[in-house]
Amino acid sequence: MKSLMALFAIAMMTIACNQPEAENKSIPNEKTSEMPAPEGTPYTTDMVVNAKDYACGMPTSAGISDTCHYEGKAYGFCSSECKAEFQKDPAKYLASN
Ligand SMILES: [Zn+2]
Repeated sequence: MKSLMALFAIAMMTIACNQPEAENKSIPNEKTSEMPAPEGTPYTTDMVVNAKDYACGMPTSAGISDTCHYEGKAYGFCSSECKAEFQKDPAKYLASN
């Protein structure tokens, strides 16, 4: 009877140690960009209000690789560098276009 109890205790401990990986659920979400498009989704000119990249002047129809939101509107840029440039002073770029 004693050995049965011991076996039972060991079994309980084994079960306790074999819990599925529940810890991984608590990984915080990485900060996502303002546009929640899945990775690899191409942006289209329909998604943005600007016909050309304000930072470099390239038409957005040639390809948009990054976007940002400003005052409720989406703007497309050929690169994240151009987006960063625009975001430094959006009002300036909008005023001159
Ligand atoms: Zn550009």
